[in-house]
Formats: sequence, structure tokens, C-alpha cells
Amino acid sequence: MQEIRRLYGAGPVPLHRPIFEGNERQYLVDCIDSNFVSSVGEKVAEFERKIADFVGADHAVATVNGTAALHVSLQLAGVEANTDVITQALTFVATCNAIKYLGASPVFIDVDRDTLGLSAIALSTFLEKHAERKNGQIINKFSGRRLAACLPMHTFGIPCRIADLKEVCEEWGIPVVEDAAESLGSTSRNQSGGWQHTGTFGELGVLSFNGNKVITTGGGGMIITNDASLAVRAKHLTTTAKSPHAYEFVHDELGYNYRMPNLNAALGCAQAERLPEMLKRKSEVADRYRKILTSSPLQFIEAPEGTRRNNWLNAVLLESREKRDEFLNNCNAEGVMVRPIWTLMNRLKMYRHCQHDGLENSQWLEDRVVNIPSSVPESSAVANNIQE
Ligand SMILES: *Cc1c(COP(=O)(O)O)cnc(C)c1O
Repeated sequence: MQEIRRLYGAGPVPLHRPIFEGNERQYLVDCIDSNFVSSVGEKVAEFERKIADFVGADHAVATVNGTAALHVSLQLAGVEANTDVITQALTFVATCNAIKYLGASPVFIDVDRDTLGLSAIALSTFLEKHAERKNGQIINKFSGRRLAACLPMHTFGIPCRIADLKEVCEEWGIPVVEDAAESLGSTSRNQSGGWQHTGTFGELGVLSFNGNKVITTGGGGMIITNDASLAVRAKHLTTTAKSPHAYEFVHDELGYNYRMPNLNAALGCAQAERLPEMLKRKSEVADRYRKILTSSPLQFIEAPEGTRRNNWLNAVLLESREKRDEFLNNCNAEGVMVRPIWTLMNRLKMYRHCQHDGLENSQWLEDRVVNIPSSVPESSAVANNIQE
């Protein structure tokens, strides 16, 4: 805990708070003055362009939150009722909920210990054991259902082995949707050795701009893709599936009101302008922890070789569940907000019956991983707080 205090000083320390030091106020006022605060206005398209350019995706569709973006992305990947979707048990509940909204079932496969993300080896092992090709579909022999998609997640912004996962899924012909909600700004080496943004490896990728993420729109999400027709479909489905017409209301399929309001996009535009700066400052926070924690029993979790993380939430490994609980109790009692990693999804009552593999690494990590405060200090505080 003293280590965290050295970084953030006395008083309550939140886990992660947003920073508004750019044009946020100005753009919000402009938006209010223009009267375009809701479903019409230019800021949404501008925000979509900015993020698409940043991550190197051809298309981006802004949504009301990341969960909605996951819901629609899975549907576009072909997930429907009574199909299976492979994902990790070590994730935030939104990942699984989006699967369930479509009437599909999650299948939980183990993660790698170093990436905290879906393991390509465990995936491959699972598919060899349980999957079979039948009438042009991939069937899960255990459930009898079609394996409709694979949904890996980049935990705390640490990229999972996405290129390897993609390769395994391509062999089988299973579409990949990436839950990149936590990993805006993280990159991974692709098959040709270049750095590629998480969220752009799969057919579709999902980002979140919730208040606790790297940048925020208050609440918001985004679907990113390089497939023009998927992007058109995503826009259509998230905006009530309305057919274009000067005044008639005709909706040609079951759509959703998942669009991002202009007001939120205005905030996002200002945040996006500061994204590179934000990522730089987040890496400085991680550097400080790295140094401070060398002489501590807390083991700082690093991103593996071949990846660059956005340092969204820093995390440490404790020696055991008991040590973890002790650390959580001590810090939280003193106003230093630290949080355990999520309870494994297969132990939540909605997902208890779902198929899973041994989940050895997931369980090992659940017992030991704790997130430590990771806010970027305000510019004025950087000099005072972050220097030794
Ligand atoms: C934040 C997050 C989401 C989406 O969250 P929203 O609050 O709906 O924007 C999805 N998956 C993961 C792993 C997340 O951390």
C-alpha cells in the first residue's frame, strides 16, 4: 500500500478516474448551443472517423455503450438463438451477457497466465476434442449446437494472443469478434510482423467509452471493422433499422436504439484529441509502478513479448488467495481502492450450467490478481506527485 501512496499521495485514491483537460467543455457547449444533443448532429460521425483512424480500421459505428456494441457485433457475426460462442471465464460480465441476449450460450475456455486472455492452445485443444464439421457448419459435439463465434477479450488492455487465436479460428471457419472494450491503444504483432491495434484482428471489434475506460464519452461504445457491408449493417441495426426516406417511418427488420447521442460524441471528440497524450501518461504511471514494485512482494503484471499495452488498469499478482484478501482488506480500509479480478463467469448463477474446460489458469489468476489505482495524475500534479 505504501507503494501506491508514493504515487498518489494521502487521501482517498480511486481506481481510475477520467481526465478532462482538453476541449470537452467547449464541444459540449457548442453542442447545446446548436440544439443537436441527441440522435442528430455531426459529432457522432466525427468521433467515429477519429477512432477508426486511430486504430487503423476502415469503419467505425458508435453505440450507446460497449455492451450494445457487443450484442450487435455478435449478431452480425452470425450468432443466433441456440448456438454456442466460445469465450473466456475470466472476463467482465458484459462479454457473456451479450452472448445470452441473443439466446446463445457461452462456452468457457481457459486463458493464458501471462496475457490473462483466451488461450490459443486451449482453444485449439477444445476444438480438436469437441468440434466437428457437418454440412458446412462447425458443430459442438458436446452440446449439438453450432459454434457460431469466438469472443476473446483483452484483459485490462493486455493483448491476448489474438493473431494465434485468429489463425485457429480461420482453420475452423469460426468468426472472431474481439472484446477490445478495455484495450483502446493496445497493439499486437500480426502475422507479417507489423503492429496492429487490438479490435482490428477479428471480423468485428468492440470498444467501450464508459467513464472508467482509457477515454470516455460518459457512456458509449463502438463497433470497428474493415468490412464495409458489416459496417453498413451495424449502423442500420443500431439505429432502429429505418429505411431511408424523406419522411416515412419504415423499418425493415428488428433494429435497436443503440446509437450514441451527439452530446456523448462531442465529449468523445475532445477525449480522442488527447488520446496519444493520455496513453503516454498512462505508460508513465506504469513505469513508476514497475520501479516502485521491484522491491515489493507484489508482482507487477507485464504485457508479454510481441504486445504493447495501453496500461489502462495496472495489476499485480499476490502469492495466494489469502494474501490477496489481506491486501484487498488493508488497502480498501485505508481508502486506497484496489479490486480483485472478476469472479469467474462459470461461477455466476446465470452461467453455472455452461460448458467449460479445466480453467486452471483462470482459477489461478482469480485467486491472485488485483487491480491497483491507475489514474493519470492531472497535468499540474504530475510534477509534484509522480517524481520521487
Ligand atoms: C467495459 C467493458 C465492456 C463494455 O462495457 P459498457 O459499460 O457497456 O461500455 C465490455 N467488456 C469488457 C471486458 C469491459 O471491460
